[in-house]
Amino acid sequence: MARVAFIGLGNMGGGMAANLVKAGHEVIAFDLAEPAIERARGNGCSIATSAAEAVEGVDAVVTMLPAGKHVAAVYAESVIGRAPASAVLMDCSTIDVATARTVEELASEAGYAMVDAPVSGGIAAADAGTLTFMVGGSDDGFAKAQPFLEKMGKAVIHAGGAGAGQAAKIVNNMLLGVTMAGTCEAFVLAQKLGLDPQTFFDISSKASGQSWSMTSYCPVPGVGPETPADRNYDGGFAAALMLKDLKLAMEAAQAADAYTPMGGEAEELYQRFVSRGGGGKDFSALIKMIDDSWTP
Ligand code: NAD
Repeated sequence: MARVAFIGLGNMGGGMAANLVKAGHEVIAFDLAEPAIERARGNGCSIATSAAEAVEGVDAVVTMLPAGKHVAAVYAESVIGRAPASAVLMDCSTIDVATARTVEELASEAGYAMVDAPVSGGIAAADAGTLTFMVGGSDDGFAKAQPFLEKMGKAVIHAGGAGAGQAAKIVNNMLLGVTMAGTCEAFVLAQKLGLDPQTFFDISSKASGQSWSMTSYCPVPGVGPETPADRNYDGGFAAALMLKDLKLAMEAAQAADAYTPMGGEAEELYQRFVSRGGGGKDFSALIKMIDDSWTP
């Protein structure tokens, strides 16, 4: 049994911390929000009064925070220099590659093994312990982090050096945003040309137009396997989070001088969709905006 600090117990972190407790670890939790603290207490975590107190004497630190600015502040102010140098540090938030690399450099200069370990899978996977972790960091950092991450997920993949986990996550999600936008407009055009959506699915899902967005996550209700489209686009992966990831991908593309016109188009489409009030809906609901008959 190890002593693990867990900072950020929101929609995702709450379930992840509970799975570390179930695995037999002593989890010392901290969050700024009272409801998150109460849930963690109910799930068997001990509660610290600050992030700095949570990391005292621990073997491992896990953070699951909203964005890069929160991660940078928590590590600089409360983790680095306060957790024992032997502790492995794991940031599981989805943040920009540049901040992930800066924080990992600071941690490594102070003698820590640190990894970026963003996740694929939503709240249900966080609760069930079936997340996929994409891990960036040294071989040593990965080896130290793996046993903890395995208790919260079904797959733990070493993507490369510092920041590589974040890079894999946002590039994958950029491709997902692009294929979903393309799939939505293909179904709208097919229908306007007089094709039945089910017939178009039967053809395209077995032809060269197929992708995961079509075959596994079809944006048209009643077509293909059951998806959020069949539940009025509730649940699933919120459009606001897709927009967050597309923005991170575009920032990274600019910094790396990569030309990503399709990612840029997808970002604009999701920005418009979220501005019109669609942020809480599953990201496949974009089809309702592309089909202009929709008013949210
Ligand atoms: P959330 O907003 O529900 O949780 C974040 C928690 O961090 C909140 O409880 C907040 O109070 C806490 N927090 C913020 N600043 C803090 C600080 N300084 N100290 C301590 N606690 C602090 O967000 P979430 O949905 O749990 O997402 C967390 C991360 O996981 C994000 O980076 C998100 O992009 C990523 N992610 C989310 C999903 C999803 O489906 N929700 C899926 C994959 C990845």
